[in-house]
Amino acid sequence: MKRLVVGNIKMNLLYPRERDQYIANLKNESRRHVFSQTDIVLCPPFLYIEAFLKNSPKNVSIGAQNVFWERKGAYTGEISPIMLKEMGCMWSIIGHSERRMYLDENNETVQKKVFLAVESGINVILCVGETLEERRGEKAHIILEKQISSALNGITGSKLKNIVIAYEPLWSIGTDITPTSNEIMEAGLLIKRTISILFGRGSEKEIAVLYGGSVYSKNVHSVCLEPSMDGVLVGRESLHIDELFRIADIIDQSSS
Ligand code: PEP
Repeated sequence: MKRLVVGNIKMNLLYPRERDQYIANLKNESRRHVFSQTDIVLCPPFLYIEAFLKNSPKNVSIGAQNVFWERKGAYTGEISPIMLKEMGCMWSIIGHSERRMYLDENNETVQKKVFLAVESGINVILCVGETLEERRGEKAHIILEKQISSALNGITGSKLKNIVIAYEPLWSIGTDITPTSNEIMEAGLLIKRTISILFGRGSEKEIAVLYGGSVYSKNVHSVCLEPSMDGVLVGRESLHIDELFRIADIIDQSSS
């Protein structure tokens, strides 16, 4: 299985000139780096997906940051996974903690989104993670198991290869505080174990597990390589495309 570096641009690159400069930098960086064991997925705001799809280098895939749970109809302001697929956008983040926090996303809506996205042929990056309170209360494992078993309810084992799970402890997102390598490894193993309980022994090998939260090139060893994660989900640093490629470079070199 290849490693994965996902960049979540969030609601940034406000001006078209910023977006165009970003894409120009992206083209430059991708000319300078060839990865054999690592894929890059960039998730811009919906409005920019088309420009990214048209102008991004072929070795970078494009994803959305969210998707709706119905195929079509009277759902003002929502985006169907069918629309993404038809545009050539093959990925979507689902259940990011910022959506759970600010937009009432919950395990039930996340499940409906994951189900339809996968059915529609979209690869899903499912975000899970505990709050600091939950970790201090030693409830992290219960929260993670619940988030995963709810989100994957209705999914068949054959679709697991289209799902990536990103372990993103909420207390690490945007804070520059990261768990220790051991804590990340434990979470990774817990996620794999949960998959194997839900889908049968061996099924955990089908699914990539990423770490996300304050990832930089300077800590990618301790948050990804040492705990044997399958890649990273990068927020802020994805705005610095050279740093994102540096992160991918380190991961790729360690895998080849
Ligand atoms: C994120 O929001 O998914 C994330 C990982 O953010 P950051 O890298 O900025 O902590």
